[in-house]
Amino acid sequence: EAKAAGGGRWTLLDEEVRTRARRALRLVADLREALARGAVDVHYQPVVQPGRPARLRSVEALCRWTHPELGPVRPDVFIELAERANLVPVLDSHVLQVACRDLASWRSAQAAGDLAVSPEHVAVNVSAVSLSAEGFADGVRRVVAAAGLQLSDLCLEVTETALASDLRACRQVLEELRADGVRVAIDDFGTGYSSLAYLTDLPVDHLKVDRSFVRDLRSTTGPARAVAAAVVSLARTLGLGVVAEGVETLEQDAVISDLGCEAVQGYLYSRPLPREALLDVLRSGGELAPGPRTPTV
Ligand code: C2E
Ligand code: MG
Ligand code: MG
Ligand code: MG
Repeated sequence: EAKAAGGGRWTLLDEEVRTRARRALRLVADLREALARGAVDVHYQPVVQPGRPARLRSVEALCRWTHPELGPVRPDVFIELAERANLVPVLDSHVLQVACRDLASWRSAQAAGDLAVSPEHVAVNVSAVSLSAEGFADGVRRVVAAAGLQLSDLCLEVTETALASDLRACRQVLEELRADGVRVAIDDFGTGYSSLAYLTDLPVDHLKVDRSFVRDLRSTTGPARAVAAAVVSLARTLGLGVVAEGVETLEQDAVISDLGCEAVQGYLYSRPLPREALLDVLRSGGELAPGPRTPTV
């Protein structure tokens, strides 16, 4: 009896595992195909200079994939799959190309008088595998030049974890690109590699305070504020810019600007926007009022 029940459970589990593995394999195949067709899209989230009104300074490119049958797949889900299937370099390079092409088109539209403003730069996320792949720096130079942009029009966002996994190789590539003008930001700062020593010798321009710290900023006191204050002051001491990620409420915004953080990115000002919606913001001068946002994705 017990044996039969146990056997049944195993069979069920087995099936579940197989179903999940099959689904993952199919997703990987579909993602590979979508990348080959250029069907993975890019949305842009404004990074603003706080104030009333806040002003768009730059944008972060974020990949978006809508599966033909399953609908939108969350980036963290398909990026994990892409990592396992070694598709991340293809994904990152696709997003880089699209982002550079879009920034170039906004610049020329602004020059033609069709847009009031255009972003100072576009930030692109790069994973450790992309960064340490042979020829990464040359690839970046080629894509930026082909779009008619300067390397200073581009910011690369890397995570602490990415840097820790292959610090030497990553540092070399970043140093090289940064010497030519590329900006570098440490993404999700405070969540990864916990030693701060690497900061003193990494070629870095900005820290992005992870949204887990911003989420708990409810008053002008308390531990979350202490952490945020420490990051802002660390950045200032090291001569780095600091961006607060994930600002959703006026309260968080007030604490953040009280700390002297010069750049904010979060749903309070804007969700990541499809191209057309970002164009509306650029057309109307890049001003963003704080307010509740209805999900776009
Ligand atoms: P990230 O680089 O830290 O990007 C910020 C994430 O926070 C985005 O999630 C964004 O939509 C979300 N976010 C922004 N403001 C708020 C807010 O106020 N509240 C909340 N709850 N969330 C907010 P998304 O687009 O789902 O991307 C997740 C992660 O996937 C990114 O985190 C990044 O690590 C990765 N990613 C996205 N695009 C790419 C890419 O092209 N290449 C690589 N390698 N990674 C990417
Ligand atoms: Mg990022
Ligand atoms: Mg981040
Ligand atoms: Mg993050």
